[in-house]
Amino acid sequence: MKLVNKTTLPDEVLRVILVKAGRAVRARTSRVVVMVTQGRALGRCSGLAESASRVHLFDGPRHMRHLDTDCGWFKIVLPAVRWSAGGDDWGDPLRSAEAFYRCARHEWNHVREYQLGGVWAFEFSGRNGERRPPWCQRPEEQRAEAACDDADALGRSAEWAYEEVVVLALALEEKALENKAAVERRACRG
Ligand SMILES: [Zn+2]
Repeated sequence: MKLVNKTTLPDEVLRVILVKAGRAVRARTSRVVVMVTQGRALGRCSGLAESASRVHLFDGPRHMRHLDTDCGWFKIVLPAVRWSAGGDDWGDPLRSAEAFYRCARHEWNHVREYQLGGVWAFEFSGRNGERRPPWCQRPEEQRAEAACDDADALGRSAEWAYEEVVVLALALEEKALENKAAVERRACRG
């Protein structure tokens, strides 16, 4: 997997849980580009997969990188876990890590379909300019959800990835505590 880590978490923490999620739905993970960004919504995770053979990354002006990818790639947003200045209002790190695993598994299933190379790889373009059905009715989304249900039934749920989920949860918690300390330092100075 070619990890593009736009968060402050260590690469290895993200890498192990992402690869585990890909294996849960039997995607080929080794040459796939996955970009992780930091979200602002507490505990909420989202992703977007696209069919592609090459990904162009802009790391700043005049700084473009090309990465080859195995049929598809995806972006995934890491849930925010934050200790607010007012109290204990933070996203539960364990639930957030579990949401990340589940979201990654869903996105990996889109990539797996691009890797299988069926007609579904082209569904995103829409047929003859007709409007696409709402998200929940799209066949590729229904298949992705069904694949996640199958993975659960095969015992490849978040419990199967327990160790990776816990490692991510601990890293998220550590960041939240660092942020809390920074907020408190600012409050003392103010
Ligand atoms: Zn989807």
